[in-house]
Amino acid sequence: MSERRFDFEIVVVGAGPAGLAAACMAAENGKRVAVVDDTPWLGGQIWRGQQARPLVPQAQKWIERFRRSGATLLDRTSVIAAPRAGVLLAEHANGPREIHWDKLILATGARELFLPFPGWTLPGILGPGGLQSLAKSGWPVSGQRVVVAGSGPLLLAVADGLKKLGAKIVSIAEQAQWGRVAGFGATLLAHPAKLAQAARIKWRLLGVPYRCGVWPVKAEGDTQIRQVTLTDGQRSWTEACDLLACGFGLAPNVELPLALGCELLEGFVWVDAWQATSAAHVYCAGEPTGIGGADCALVEGQIAGHTASEHKAEAQALFQERSRWHEFRSALARAFALRAELKSLATADTLVCRCEDVSLGRMKQFAGWRDAKLQSRCGMGACQGRVCGAAAKVIFGWGMESVRPPVLPARIESLISVAEKESAEGGKASTGSECRAPALREYEN
Ligand SMILES: Cc1cc2nc3c(=O)[nH]c(=O)nc-3n(C[C@H](O)[C@H](O)[C@H](O)COP(=O)(O)OP(=O)(O)OC[C@H]3O[C@@H](n4cnc5c(N)ncnc54)[C@H](O)[C@@H]3O)c2cc1C
Repeated sequence: MSERRFDFEIVVVGAGPAGLAAACMAAENGKRVAVVDDTPWLGGQIWRGQQARPLVPQAQKWIERFRRSGATLLDRTSVIAAPRAGVLLAEHANGPREIHWDKLILATGARELFLPFPGWTLPGILGPGGLQSLAKSGWPVSGQRVVVAGSGPLLLAVADGLKKLGAKIVSIAEQAQWGRVAGFGATLLAHPAKLAQAARIKWRLLGVPYRCGVWPVKAEGDTQIRQVTLTDGQRSWTEACDLLACGFGLAPNVELPLALGCELLEGFVWVDAWQATSAAHVYCAGEPTGIGGADCALVEGQIAGHTASEHKAEAQALFQERSRWHEFRSALARAFALRAELKSLATADTLVCRCEDVSLGRMKQFAGWRDAKLQSRCGMGACQGRVCGAAAKVIFGWGMESVRPPVLPARIESLISVAEKESAEGGKASTGSECRAPALREYEN
């Protein structure tokens, strides 16, 4: 194996709960397995940074199981493209890596969903998960006044975590109506562990206002945010703060699945009962298939790992457990569905694409995402549309019809490596019939 080439029977992209579970099953079933992740840790978003701290029991169980499984971890390795069938192109500090696979499991997770409103780009405004990650990594929040806003159960978890680290939580604003949130609470009766966790968090947050049917409309400040205006649709008020943690749930990371030719259904990767996607030999598990939390990701990952290693009976034995978590996933989606008012928070001069400075007024001139991208450069900056693309989907209903590699910002050296490889092979991009991978010409644009 050359330093830049790796060959495995099963490659898993993503070392979060879904990827870890998939890798454990496949490796324990005797396959040669690698997990590729762009971070330096195991555990994805929910268990990130835990290696330096006491592990929660569920994380400990899966991380230890992974370490015993014999699977290889290619960490600090970002998959940027799928240049040919059976091959991923990835970046590592030591140079580009070519990772060859017979079966591929995509467990790329999700990211926070940001919706633009006047002032949303001020320093001191972060996604709740992002702020939590910074704080867990040692960024000081002690004594800081934090307003937590947006939607979803993550708001409470983040407020709890920040409070433990000494932050003063001014208030929590949940955009969903109280009735829906209470209904979701009732569905937790079927998941006693989650109910107990929610009760503990609410107890620790006693005294912090948790307002439902409330959302941010404006942030103001100078070198950083100083205050946020919130509304319940009837009246508005301002709250002074040093930090605003604001996110409207999660958006799935579907760029790599799209680059591999996987079909989407309502914005998520379509999979069959075996977690198989529409692309041959490509499976998907966890948040790209639906936002259902870590337990849902774990069971989907196990099914994908068993299926990819041809242990279908073991996979099938987990279908019932997955159904329970899919019910939970549907309840989450119903309870925290975004209200229509959030589509019109931005004014004409509010930036939607903050990388390329494209305002709402400018974006309104175009008929769709592709048109807007071509003519305004929105979505072509450092985040590659991860923030504004998801926002445009909510505001305008624009879908991402296709994705162009690289799916993450890449070094020229990596792109050249594809060109060199293909010219050595006689200039033919062996895209193959099974995998609709991008041809070389797409890198030249
Ligand atoms: C910022 C953030 C914070 C969160 N915090 C919490 C929390 O505190 N509590 C909670 O209950 N839930 C939290 N969640 C939700 C939780 O992370 C998910 O429910 C759960 O982790 C889903 O597991 P997963 O395996 O599907 O994805 P993830 O855990 O997201 O794992 C996906 C992994 O894939 C990697 N990856 C993606 N694309 C590539 C690529 N191209 N190349 C290489 N690697 C790649 C990512 O770096 C990541 O490590 C958070 C989510 C986010 C986005």
